[in-house]
Amino acid sequence: MVTEQLEAAGRMLQSPLEQILAPKTALSLAETLGRATVGQLLGYFPRRYAERGALAEISTAAPGESVTLVGYVVDARSRYMRSRRGKIYEFLLAADPSDTGDVITVSFFNNRSLERVQRGTRLLVSGTVSVYRDKRSLSHPDFEILSDDDGSAEGAVDVRPVPIYPATKKVSSELVRKSIRKILAAGLPETLPDPLPAELRRAEGLMPYGDALRTIHSPDEVKDAYRARHRFKFEEAFLLQTVLATRRAAHQSEPASARPGRPDGVLAAFDARLPFALTSGQQENGEVISAELATTRPMNRLLQGEVGSGKTVVALRALLQVVDSGAQTAFLAPTEVLAEQHFRSINELLGDLGGAGTLGSDPLAIRVELLTGSMTQSTKKRVLLGLASGEVDLVVGTHALLSEHVGFAELGMIVVDEQHRFGVEQRDALRQRASTAPHVLIMTATPIPRTVAMTSFGDLAVSTLTELPAGRQPIRSHVVALDSHPGWEQRIWERAREEIDAGRQVFVVCPLIDEPSSDPGDGPPRASVESTFGHLQQQADLAGCRIGKLHGGIPGDEKEAAMLAFAAGDIDLLVATTVIEVGVNVPNATLMIVLDADRFGIAQLHQLRGRIGRGSHESLCLLVTALPEGHPSVERLTKVASTTDGLELSEYDVETRKEGDILGAAQSGGVSSLTLLRVVQDRALIERARQAAFELVSRDPQLAGEPVLRQTIASLDEESKEYLERA
Ligand code: ADP
Ligand code: MG
Repeated sequence: MVTEQLEAAGRMLQSPLEQILAPKTALSLAETLGRATVGQLLGYFPRRYAERGALAEISTAAPGESVTLVGYVVDARSRYMRSRRGKIYEFLLAADPSDTGDVITVSFFNNRSLERVQRGTRLLVSGTVSVYRDKRSLSHPDFEILSDDDGSAEGAVDVRPVPIYPATKKVSSELVRKSIRKILAAGLPETLPDPLPAELRRAEGLMPYGDALRTIHSPDEVKDAYRARHRFKFEEAFLLQTVLATRRAAHQSEPASARPGRPDGVLAAFDARLPFALTSGQQENGEVISAELATTRPMNRLLQGEVGSGKTVVALRALLQVVDSGAQTAFLAPTEVLAEQHFRSINELLGDLGGAGTLGSDPLAIRVELLTGSMTQSTKKRVLLGLASGEVDLVVGTHALLSEHVGFAELGMIVVDEQHRFGVEQRDALRQRASTAPHVLIMTATPIPRTVAMTSFGDLAVSTLTELPAGRQPIRSHVVALDSHPGWEQRIWERAREEIDAGRQVFVVCPLIDEPSSDPGDGPPRASVESTFGHLQQQADLAGCRIGKLHGGIPGDEKEAAMLAFAAGDIDLLVATTVIEVGVNVPNATLMIVLDADRFGIAQLHQLRGRIGRGSHESLCLLVTALPEGHPSVERLTKVASTTDGLELSEYDVETRKEGDILGAAQSGGVSSLTLLRVVQDRALIERARQAAFELVSRDPQLAGEPVLRQTIASLDEESKEYLERA
C-alpha cells in the first residue's frame, strides 16, 4: 500500500527521460546537463522567475533600462549577413497582437531555435534597452518562446510566473522549461518519497517533497517558489549533516585502543621540565584530549588556534601520553620544509627526553625520527625499520608516511598539521596504517568559521585555543598605500632601521622570488626577493645592517643556514617569500614589512603576521601596496590591519569570496540539485539541520526508521566525499 505507492513513485523518478521526452531532447539534456532521469531533471531548478508583475510595459521601456518584457511578434524577419557567416533575426514586439504602434525591436544572431518564431508568437525577453537607428531595441536578450506550449488561449495572458533555467549554449532555458512541463503534465504521483523525516518537516514547516518539486517548477506565485526553494535548501543542509553524522558514528564505532598513559612516564617528565606554565586553554583542551585518548573510541578532533597559541605543545603532550601507553605516534606536515621545522621544534621542546638511544640520554627518553621523501635511501631504511620494529616512538614526516612501504608495529595516534591540505581520503589512508583505529588530532592555525567547520569538518569534534601564551605583545598593523603617500616608502626603511638599532629583527616579505623574465604587462612590477635584497643593500638608511634572503629557489642547506642565522640574531633583516609563513619562530623579530601585500590572501597575511609578536616586545606589521585606496584589495588589507582575530578574518574571507555551494553541482537520482546553500548566509539553517541530523543519527544510527533518507544518503555519500575532498 503506502510503501508500494512510494516505491512506484521512486521508480518513476528513476525512469529515463526518453520515456516521456523525444529521444533527441533526452539526449541533449543528458549530455549537456548530465540529467538522464526524470528525478534528475526535476532537480534542475530555475535560476529565477519572470513575473508578470515585474514585467515592464513595452510602450514605456526606456533606453538604458534593464527590463523583462512579454509581447507578441508583429513582424518577423531574418537575413544572412554579408560581412560574416550567420543569420540575423529581427522581431518587432508589441503588447497586443494587433498593435503596431508601440513596438520594440528585438534582434538575435545565429540562433536556430528562433526559426519557428513568426507573427503571433508570444515571446518573453529580458535585457537592456538600447537605441538603434532611432528605435528602441534589445539585442541578444535572454528569451523564452511562450506561445506554443502554454496551453493558454490565443490572446489570453498567462499570469503565472515563468521559470528561467540556467541555460547553456546547447540547452536553452526554454528547452528545459518545456521538458519539465511535459513531465509534470504526464503526472507526478501525488506522494513522492521524501528524504526528510516527517516530524522534522512539520517542525520546520517545510513543504513535502512532491509539492515542493511541482511548486519550484510551476509556482502560482513567486513567493510559493521561494518556499519550495527553502525546503530544498534545508534538505541539502540536512542531507549533508546526516552524511557527516553517520560518518562520525561509523568512526566512533571502530574499535580503538585505550591509551591512558602512566603517571611516571615521559609525559610527566616533560611537564615537570616545561619552562613555562600552560595557558588555561592548553590545560583544559589537554585534559579533554587526554580523557578521550583513554577510551576505546577513536578520537577525531580538530584543534584550532591562532598562530603561536601553543598547539604544538598540546599535540606533543597527547603524543607523549600515547607513547607512555606503549604505542607509536606520527606527526604529519604538509611539506618537507614544515616537517623539518616541526622535527626541530619538537626536539627542542623535548630536550634530552628526545634522544633515546644516544649516549647519556634520559632513561625515559623516546626515539623521534624524521621521514621525508628526499632523505637518502639508507636513512629512510633505518627509520622504516625502526617503525616496523616499534623502536621509533614518534615519526615526523610528510605524505611519504602514507606510502605503502611504511609499516608501524603499533600506531596509536596521528597528529596532522594544517588539515586543509589533507583530504578526507588521506585521513582514511592513514587510519588504515594501523591495526586498530588510531586516535587522530588535526591542527589548524587558520581558524575555521563555524559554518565551514560544520560542513567541511563536520565529522570532527572541535577544540579551540582562544588565548595566546602570557606575555605576548599585541601586533599593530597598518596599510601603507604608496599611491596616495609616495613619501612613505622612505619612511618604511627608516622604521626598519629604528627597529634594528633597538636590537630587534625585521622580516621583509615579497610576492616573487625574482623579476619575471618577461613583463606580463598586468600592472606595476611586483617586488621580488632578489631585487629587493639588492635594493636594500644600497639603502642609506640600512647601511651597516646585516641583510639576508630566503626563498624556495635557494638550495636546501643555504636556506637552512639563513634560517638559523636569523634565528640566532646574526641577520638583522631577512628578505623572504612566504616560505616563512609557517613554523619560523624568532621572538626577537618585531617588524614585518609585506611588500605588494595586495598580492596575498587574507589567510596568508594572517599567517605571515603570526611570525612577529612572539616575544615580549611590541610588534608592527606594515602592509604595503601600490594600489589606490578604495580598491577592493586595499579594503581587504584594511580589514586585515583592523584585527588580529583570525576567526573574524576568516569569516570575512569566506563572505567576500562568496563561498560557493556546499555540495557542488553534483546530482543524484531523485534528489534536489544540492546547490542552494550558502555557508555564511545560511548559517542558522545549517545549525538547525545539523542538530536535527546528529540527534537522529544518535537515536537511529542505521536510519532504520527512515528508509528514504537512508537510500538517499547511500547514493549521496560518494558525491559528498568528493566535495569534502575539494573543500
Ligand atoms: P602554534 O603551533 O599554535 O602556532 P606553538 O605551539 O608553535 O604555536 O607555540 C609557539 C611558541 O610559544 C613556541 O615557542 C612555544 O614553545 C611557545 N609556547 C607554547 N605554549 C606556551 C605557554 N603556555 N607559555 C609560553 N610559551 C608557550
Ligand atoms: Mg605551529
